[in-house]
Amino acid sequence: MKLQVGAIKEKATSLVSEEPAEAYPALLAVQEAGECRFVAPVTARLSVGKEYDHIRAHGEVSTTVALVCSRCLVDFTQELHTSFTIFYSPASVGPQDEEVELSEEDLVSIPYEGDEIDFTPEIVAQLITEIPYKPLCREECKGLCASCGVDLNVTECTCEKDAFSLKFSALKDFKVDK
Ligand SMILES: [Zn+2]
Ligand SMILES: [Zn+2]
Repeated sequence: MKLQVGAIKEKATSLVSEEPAEAYPALLAVQEAGECRFVAPVTARLSVGKEYDHIRAHGEVSTTVALVCSRCLVDFTQELHTSFTIFYSPASVGPQDEEVELSEEDLVSIPYEGDEIDFTPEIVAQLITEIPYKPLCREECKGLCASCGVDLNVTECTCEKDAFSLKFSALKDFKVDK
C-alpha cells in the first residue's frame, strides 16, 4: 500500500486491500517458521491524511490464522484484528531527537524520505504483533497430563488424581480403616 506524498491531502484518503498472506514476505517468514498458518486473506483498510507537518495513517488489519495450542497441542483457528495509528514525518524535519519522541506517548512516528510512502511494512509489523506468542485454544485449556500425555480437556487420567490426592491419602486411609 503506497501513496504519493503529494496526493495526501487533509481530507483523508482511503486505501483498501485484500491479499493472501503469502503476498507479504514477512508473513510468509512467520508461517515458514511454524508460528502460525494464515488461512484467510489479509484485509487492510487504511485512512491517510495530512495533519500539520506530518501524515497520519489509521489502519485496521485483520486475518485468520491456524495455531497450535501451547498447552494441549490441538489445532485451532483464531481471528486476528488490529487497529492502529501511525504518524509519518519527513526524515529531514522528523522527530529525530529522543526528547520529542518521548513526549509523544505511545504514538509511533516513522520518518519517510522521497515522495512516496509505502505503508506495507508497518501494516505487516502491526499484524505480526497480534500473533499470540503462546497460543491457547481457550483461556481455560487444561493442557496435557505431564506424566501420561492425555488431553485433560477430553478425559481425565489416574496419574493426575494420584498426584492430587497424595497429601490426603493419610486421611483417606484413616477413614477406610475405621
Ligand atoms: Zn488447548
Ligand atoms: Zn495422566
